Amino acid sequence: MNTSMKRLLLLLCVCWTSAWAQQRPLEIHDRLAGTAAQAKLVALTLDACSGQFDDDLLAFLIRNRIAATIFATKKWLVHNPSGVAVIKAHLDLFDVEDHGENHIPAVIGAGRKVYGIRGESDVLHLRREVAEGGRAITEMIGVPPHWYRGATAEYDSQAVTEIEKMGYGIAGFSVNADAGAKLRKPAIEERLKHVKPGDVILAHMNKPASDTAEGLSAGLIQLLKMGFVFVRLDQVDLIQVP
Ligand SMILES: [Zn+2]
Repeated sequence: MNTSMKRLLLLLCVCWTSAWAQQRPLEIHDRLAGTAAQAKLVALTLDACSGQFDDDLLAFLIRNRIAATIFATKKWLVHNPSGVAVIKAHLDLFDVEDHGENHIPAVIGAGRKVYGIRGESDVLHLRREVAEGGRAITEMIGVPPHWYRGATAEYDSQAVTEIEKMGYGIAGFSVNADAGAKLRKPAIEERLKHVKPGDVILAHMNKPASDTAEGLSAGLIQLLKMGFVFVRLDQVDLIQVP
């Protein structure tokens, strides 16, 4: 192979690698900004993707006065009127934010997928997913959302730019408490043992048959005993971390 052929091959390789890196969706990690860490503040965020209403989990939070931010899709809100009623009766505890219209990941391009879930075919579809999710919350809950979390919590850079242009902050997380509501109770408790001041905890409230309510109940009680204070995302700002 001559030198110019080698150079061409190298160039092709570099281009392919950078295109691949651009395309690869990113999981965004955030912690509470400012003095949250010193004040022992922590945020609990609960995704209501599609599926059902985990009423045991919300009943536990209400009993113990634990504030939470709920990321709901329009799909979940429409299919769970009893859940919507519980949330609306406790807007002092629960902040409801945008998780999209139909739980479609914020990656753009034909055939793009995250964890096997198909993303958006183009930017217009992404804008619709974000806007219609937000509209449903404004209409059904009565408070317009300002944070967005895409399905699967992974994004490509173009999607991040578009969502921010629409006026939303993107809400990442720092502790994945239930791995998509797939973890058993002891594993959830174990993950919550490692919570530090300033963390943003992610779990799910759409799978009542899972161990999430049991695991969170046990783990969150321990955090309360340790003096942690739960804040909602409409009360704080986030800072992105690696
Ligand atoms: Zn989700």
